Amino acid sequence: MSETIQPARPIVVVGSGHAGVGVAAGLRSRGWDGRVVLVDAEGQLPYERPPLSKDLLAPGAAAEPVPMRKEAWYAARRIERVHGTAVSVDRERRELTLDDGRVLPYAKLVLATGSTPRRLTVPGGDLDGVLLLKTLPDARRLAGELAPGRHVVVIGAGYIGLEVAAAAAKLGCSVTVLEFQDRVMSRVTSEPVSRFFEDVHRRAGVEFRFGAAVTAIEGTGSAGGVGQVEWVVTADGARHRADVVVAGIGVVPEQGLAAAAGLDVSDGVLVDAAGRTSDPDIYAAGDATRFASLYDGASQRLECIQNARAQAEAIAADVTGQAQPAAEVPWFWTVQHGVRLQTAGVRHPDDDVILRGAPATGKFTVVYLRDGRVAAVDTVGSLADFNAGKRLVAQRAALSPALAADPSIPLEQAVVSLEPAF
Ligand code: NAP
Repeated sequence: MSETIQPARPIVVVGSGHAGVGVAAGLRSRGWDGRVVLVDAEGQLPYERPPLSKDLLAPGAAAEPVPMRKEAWYAARRIERVHGTAVSVDRERRELTLDDGRVLPYAKLVLATGSTPRRLTVPGGDLDGVLLLKTLPDARRLAGELAPGRHVVVIGAGYIGLEVAAAAAKLGCSVTVLEFQDRVMSRVTSEPVSRFFEDVHRRAGVEFRFGAAVTAIEGTGSAGGVGQVEWVVTADGARHRADVVVAGIGVVPEQGLAAAAGLDVSDGVLVDAAGRTSDPDIYAAGDATRFASLYDGASQRLECIQNARAQAEAIAADVTGQAQPAAEVPWFWTVQHGVRLQTAGVRHPDDDVILRGAPATGKFTVVYLRDGRVAAVDTVGSLADFNAGKRLVAQRAALSPALAADPSIPLEQAVVSLEPAF
């Protein structure tokens, strides 16, 4: 255990997503007996975000959050929850200041500040009915806007945009998705997977415009005050009727606190494998961070729950002087129109692609090879391939492409050699 920790000073964690709550949980499960303070800007029992773009928007949904843990869980572990927004860090004095002026001294500080949705910067982007989706209030607001016959324009065909499109279509809205790129989920997946999900959406009535650059949003009341959205205009001159617009155009890491405190940041708070920042008394975890991939050393940000939890465990181990937990392969999932995409590992755009099975059957896998070794897999309808894929990424397995492409042969039987990554 670090000698510099003064028992009277708590471990202060800023942010109560999976990263923040995970650090608090990990400290207690590893026997940390000192105070643990969780600072939370939303003032709400920490809740799961995945349902915000899925179940919470479903027909007849109660729009109630799914708490990560019950209130009693925090009390039983003496995790003190403080409602407030952290505004500055005094590294010299080891103090965190909140927006209401409260000052929290810390032994160690953990920044689990997450990410913020990118905003539309086009004219009319602030009209009423132009929405982002990140928080529970955002999801409730959106749920209230979705009703049969309403025109919903989704900007961005990433996870958020597509999950919202699926929910809106199910509710009987007329849905148009506008995407910069020429296919859906282009940041995270390959062409065969993109085309498969595009087709799933089209069959449910969702329309797509690719290569679509939004230039303006128009509405009522432009003479004064904030009007109501009516049209989304794209660079080709097309005007798309909109009662509500949802922008899912990516996120930016919440690194302001770290940057202002002089920590090393570069599109994310820079951390090592134990979550340590450039200040030995400050850690960071989750969407806010950037770090070297254990797979190939590439600098990356990972916006996923698995990574938030893994970094939280690494921090709890480091603070308590325990061995680092075994590294994990990152994994992700999304559900759109009831179809689940499960991904293990992080694909790069120039990876070689092996298609395993026919997308038309609704069950297929795409294996991504980097230098001949498995770097990632995308799976639809095959838990066996997802689980095998996770193992093969960790083992940096070289595969026979011909065998790997044959879905009648278990993926592991296509292995030619192993070179474990972790
Ligand atoms: P995203 O996955 O980065 O997708 C955003 C998409 O919008 C990209 O294809 C982007 O293209 C495009 N885009 C950007 N600006 C645009 C514009 N002005 N007009 C049209 N298209 C534009 O981000 P997201 O869907 O907003 O998701 C936000 C975060 O929530 C991510 O961290 C995501 O991982 C997380 N999330 C995850 C899940 C899940 O895992 N199931 C579900 C919901 C949300 P470019 O690449 O060219 O910028």
